[in-house]
Amino acid sequence: MDKHLARQVVEIGRALYEKGLVAGAEGNISVRLSADTILITPSGKHKGALAEEDLVVIDLSGNVLAGRHRPSSEAQLHLAIYRQREDVGAVVHAHPPTATAFTVAGLSMLDPVLPEIVVTLGGVPTVPFAVPGTAALADAIRPYLDDFDALLLENHGAVTMGPDLESAHQKMESLEMAARIRWMARMLGGERQLTRDEVAALLAARAYVPATSGRHPGTKLLKWLEDQKESCKPAHSDRK
Ligand SMILES: [Zn+2]
Repeated sequence: MDKHLARQVVEIGRALYEKGLVAGAEGNISVRLSADTILITPSGKHKGALAEEDLVVIDLSGNVLAGRHRPSSEAQLHLAIYRQREDVGAVVHAHPPTATAFTVAGLSMLDPVLPEIVVTLGGVPTVPFAVPGTAALADAIRPYLDDFDALLLENHGAVTMGPDLESAHQKMESLEMAARIRWMARMLGGERQLTRDEVAALLAARAYVPATSGRHPGTKLLKWLEDQKESCKPAHSDRK
């Protein structure tokens, strides 16, 4: 087990708990150790009190290779991402309260409102509800993985991914921050969506941002905006 990565997983577990993005044993974190081995948090352990030796090593089929605990009940969700996205080195699943509330209220976070999100993630689609911890949830996220690094899981939570743990964690924090701003704007009278021209300018500027990695819908965002009557959602699946 990689000591440095194990320590990082433990620290992110604590950060998620302290920032209120998970409660108790909720959420799970994983990092790729090699092409086909993954280090993942154990099932049922408090994320604010994890120890490095609590973590579990599994292969891409979910077999336990090392560790004294059962792997996270959401291991299938993580493995679906690693199998489809060779560029992904780490996955974070949490229950960020404001962002999750958007899905409970039936509100989309795909429409362009905040430049930060447009540039870094493009948007955050909502994956239709599937029972947590099942293969159905792993199946449900697959259509989104080619275009997005952050997904909302309807009435459940969110999952973010990146080349490394820090990147996946930051995307989870950014998602919740964006949801909080949008929630506050709604309480103050409503949101102004960015115009097509503003989004186009942000996408053009994005070409000069070296830090962006992972997947991004790019100019597909503009196409969805043009189909505004469809409420700016991917044709195949995002629900309003
Ligand atoms: Zn969950």
